Amino acid sequence: MLAKATARLGTETAFEVLAKARALEAQGREIIHLEIGEPDFDTPRHIVEAAIQALREGQTHYGPSAGLPAARKAFAEAAGRARGIDIDPDCVVITPGAKPVMFFGMLSLVDPGDEVIYPNPGFPIYESVIRYLGAEPVPLRISEENDFGIDLEELERLITPRTKMLVVNTPANPTGGVLSRRDIEQIAALAQKHDFWILSDEIYSRILYDAEHFSFMSLPQMPERTLLLEGHSKTYAMTGWRLGFAVAPKSVAAMIGKLMTNCNSCTATFTQFAGIAALQGPQDDVNAMVQEFRRRRDLIVDGLNAIPGIRCKMPHGAFYAFPNVRALGMNAATLADRLLREAGVATLAGTSFGAHGEGYLRFSYANSQENIRKALGAVRGFVGSL
Ligand code: PLP
Repeated sequence: MLAKATARLGTETAFEVLAKARALEAQGREIIHLEIGEPDFDTPRHIVEAAIQALREGQTHYGPSAGLPAARKAFAEAAGRARGIDIDPDCVVITPGAKPVMFFGMLSLVDPGDEVIYPNPGFPIYESVIRYLGAEPVPLRISEENDFGIDLEELERLITPRTKMLVVNTPANPTGGVLSRRDIEQIAALAQKHDFWILSDEIYSRILYDAEHFSFMSLPQMPERTLLLEGHSKTYAMTGWRLGFAVAPKSVAAMIGKLMTNCNSCTATFTQFAGIAALQGPQDDVNAMVQEFRRRRDLIVDGLNAIPGIRCKMPHGAFYAFPNVRALGMNAATLADRLLREAGVATLAGTSFGAHGEGYLRFSYANSQENIRKALGAVRGFVGSL
């Protein structure tokens, strides 16, 4: 039989909905995919060329577990420059995608019985890993009334002497919420006062529309208690490459490196060369992608708000709309399932991101304007038929 701990492991519903949608497509149905969180753009050409060149030059061997020295240096420089600080390359660990930073980071810092506060609704893997490790998941409600920010008083009420870590995600999946510098400063003060770690998931730090990104790493003393999660998946449309990185105090970075040795040996070598080219090359493609995401955001949010019974806040970052669908009178999971089967639009129930996501759907607008228009028409038709 399976090990007991596996019963505590959660999952990411997006992949299950994608499989359901593909099964319908196999039966000849046309489905518009607004469920999966990945840019629909191709990886910029010069990044692909850098990987091909690395392969041709024989970069096909094992590398150091924590990453190639040249890549750690380049990633430290880029992440430091963006946050106005110096980052020691020894504090950087390169991982296959950013997700292992969650797993290895929590494995390095969280003991059974520790409490970890995490955003709810939020990326489902946080809760999954916390539970898997035998720690206590403490949900912090992220609410529409608060413009999907963090309610400081509510956060303070959740802190106990057992609080080991707080997970913060800005810009946020699934809500598009963005924390201000003031929010980050206040949360940092709490982390210092109560002595807990911050897992700062900044994977969407470059996908912002009308807000600025501010990092815990930019505040004095915070790099000592911050585990930064970053990566190339979203910014450079590199989801399938599997390239992410952690920035952490040296002892924690060394432990994440050791877990890499135990689990992956290293991140694919030629991928790391592509990652260097991404950070050091022209950024025009990133800017163009963000501009296009902004047009799609405006299109989908206006379109959703024009449908009776749906109310959608304007997201400030990432590429998700998180409309309130309570007035449609059915639970989010049923609505998402009916939209898929009856309207051919794949979305995710807000509850895929935790219990506080009830009453909401997540639409990923990483799809063409044409498909977004079609999806809006289909949702409008479905809602009209209720
Ligand atoms: N963090 C958040 C908030 C995400 O939405 C995702 C991907 O969906 C990740 C981390 C993981 O990124 P990667 O694909 O690089 O593992």
